Formats: sequence, C-alpha cells, structure tokens
Amino acid sequence: MKIETMAIRAGYQPKNGETHTLPIYQSTTYEYTSSEYMAHLFDCPTEGHIYSRISNPTCGFVEDKIAAMEGGVAAMLTTSGQSANLLAILNICKAGDHIVSTGTIYGGTINLLAVTLKRLGIECTFVGLDDDLETLQKAIQPNTRLVFGETIANPAMAVMDIEKFAALAHNNNIPLFVDNTFATPVLCRPFEFGADIVIHSTTKYMDGHAVQVGGVIVDGGKFDWRNGKFPEFTTPDPSYHGTVYADYGAAAFVIKCRMQLMRDFGVLPSAQDAFLLDLGLQTLPLRMERHCRNAEKVAEYFANHPKVEAVTYPALPGDKYHALQQKYLPDGCSGVISVTIKGPRANAEKFLNSLKLASIVTHVADIRTLVLHPASATHRQLTDEQLVAAGVNPGLIRFSTGCEHIDDILADIEQALAQID
Ligand code: PLP
Repeated sequence: MKIETMAIRAGYQPKNGETHTLPIYQSTTYEYTSSEYMAHLFDCPTEGHIYSRISNPTCGFVEDKIAAMEGGVAAMLTTSGQSANLLAILNICKAGDHIVSTGTIYGGTINLLAVTLKRLGIECTFVGLDDDLETLQKAIQPNTRLVFGETIANPAMAVMDIEKFAALAHNNNIPLFVDNTFATPVLCRPFEFGADIVIHSTTKYMDGHAVQVGGVIVDGGKFDWRNGKFPEFTTPDPSYHGTVYADYGAAAFVIKCRMQLMRDFGVLPSAQDAFLLDLGLQTLPLRMERHCRNAEKVAEYFANHPKVEAVTYPALPGDKYHALQQKYLPDGCSGVISVTIKGPRANAEKFLNSLKLASIVTHVADIRTLVLHPASATHRQLTDEQLVAAGVNPGLIRFSTGCEHIDDILADIEQALAQID
C-alpha cells in the first residue's frame, strides 16, 4: 500500500459487524476465562493485553499503523516525544555508557542528553552534522551504544545525511536512532537509508491538531542485537522470568522496551489520546502536501523581502542543505521555516507581535500557522555555545506554516513586516 492508503487503512481492520472506526478501549485491565490463560500471558506477553500501563488495544492499532507507515516491524506509543527518546535510549544504555549525537537537534533533547542522562551516568558527545566520517569516528568510544540525530533538525532546519550516520553507527556495530518528527514518514522513511530505530514526537504533524502530547518508538527490525555488543538482548532477563529478548526476532527492540521499560515507567498514552492521534494520522499525507507547498511560497517570500536577514528552508534552491533535501525529502521539507529578521532582536519581537493570523505558541507543526522565538522560549535553557551548535541565532524565528490559504498567510506576514521601521 502507498503511504496515503496506509494512513487511512493500516492498523485497525474491522471484522464482520465490528465498529467502522477505531474503538476506544477505555479499560485499565483485561478479563480471562482461566487463571492458566492469564499465567500463559505473563509468560508470553506479546500474545495479548495484561494491563493498560503496558499495552492497550487502541494504542496497539495505532502502533501497527505507524510501524506500517515507517516501514518498520513494530512500534510502541509513549506519552510524549521526550519519553519516546528517553525509553529508546534507556533500552540499550546504562550508567557508564556513551552516546554520539549530532549537536543540531531539538533543545529538549540536548537537555535530556547533556544534563539528565549525564546525571544517570550516561555521557553524550555532540558531533557536527556536517563532519566527515573520519572526524565522526573519533567521537566513538568502546562504550558508545548508539548514534542519534534528527532527519530535519528543530528549529535549525538542517537535514541529516542519514546514510553517513548509518555508516558511522554500523561501522561500529551500533544502531542509528533517528528522530523523524518534522519529516514524518510521508516525507522521509529513515529505515530506507539505514536507520535502525525511528522516534517521533507525535505531538507534531502526526497529530497535527494540537490535541494530544505523544511519542512513538518504531523498530526497523534489521539491527543484529546478537552481534556481541548487546548482552541485554542475548542473556536471560531475571526481571521477566529469564526472557531472552533476541529470541523474539525482528521486533526484539520494541518488545524489550515494552516488557522492561513501559512496565517500570508506565508512560503509555490513554486510549482516548491514541484515538485522537489516529484521526490525525488519517489526513497526515494530505496535510503534509499542503504544509510543504505553502511553506515553499512563504520561504520564497521571506527570502525576497528586504527586512529579512536570512531564511533557512532546505527546499529553497540556495539553501545549504538543498542537496540533502533533494535526496532525503524530495517531496518537500515540512512547513517549518527558520527566518531571521534584519536589525536588533526587537525587530523580530515586533514582527511576532504584529502577526494577526499566525499564533504565538510553544508548539510547532500544526494545521494552524504558528510562530515562536526559540532563544527566549524552547531553547532558553541552552548556553550561547549550545544555541550556536543547535543552529539557533538569538534573532531567529521559527515559522511553522499551517494549512490555511496561502494568500491569507502571506498577507499576514506582509502586514507584520510593514510594522517594522
Ligand atoms: N523531538 C523533536 C524533533 C521535537 O521537536 C520535540 C518537541 O518539540 C520532541 C522531540 C519532544 O516531543 P514532545 O514535546 O512530544 O515531548
């Protein structure tokens, strides 16, 4: 099936007489006809549901849909993008381990890697997105467990050379994790370029209507966890009756993550939130097309405006990442544009405050046009050095182009820019 069809048809498949739409299984628990069957489920938890802290049928159908759309073998929903990244990392990292990540990523993820995980004894080395393979290799240590990056970095709008980072990871027998939030599987499917685990904040385009906060971890199913570097997959887990996770085959990563970490941390979304996410997914391909076409026009408008200092949007022919965009995101580069208004920081603030249609919000990647000043909001916890590494200029505005009519979006920008002296 094509992605447009999977977005609508994958996941829930009603049988004879069942509800046409995805049912909301609003239940904490599940009933069995015998205690023997329940005991069996505890031994073989992939065969059914035990408790909605660990899995739920509504969530399960949405997980199947997202896995299909990404071209993976299994997925697990979480209550946020942050918890998706956290659980994916903790699934193979413990105190004393090390991560290599590009420095050009979402500020919250930098914080997770550089501060919170460091407190837990997991170190991270941030590398340059544009470094060559030889330079990148120098960051790898014997205890490095994974390589991390974002397909399209938030908010720098830099495109990751996924194949280069996959080569780095695989040359060292470790997996590549890719946060594919901004691209969505509609614009890029990182497994096709060598990624092993794909992560999303489903809060963004996947939902698209700002009605649920969520995340998802998708298992590509190809990484060899038996390669000698990951004993946690090949030795019995005493916390789960001696289960050997590699025995589960292709979906071992997600199964281990659910059985150990979802069980212990309990960050599964509610069935209601999974239902809302599914509604968003059904129109994701339609919306992404509109977001991209609108953003291309907005980026061009900004690029030709005398009050604009710089525009970063990889679909613009002159953009630094245009070649990578053409390779990895040929159908478009999402609705998000980074724009720097000329003059002092006050000019950027004036522009933001003068917009009438676009909403000032923390959020991004929504059906409505949104704006944000990252240096004073999402990225305010970062040092100046980290800001530069993340590609965030203090005067930069993140412009998240919505699906409104392009004429209305451009008229709003035009009148707001006219307010600046
Ligand atoms: N990854 C990326 C690329 C993001 O943009 C965000 C949030 O903006 C996150 C992860 C964290 O997701 P959430 O806000 O759903 O926790």
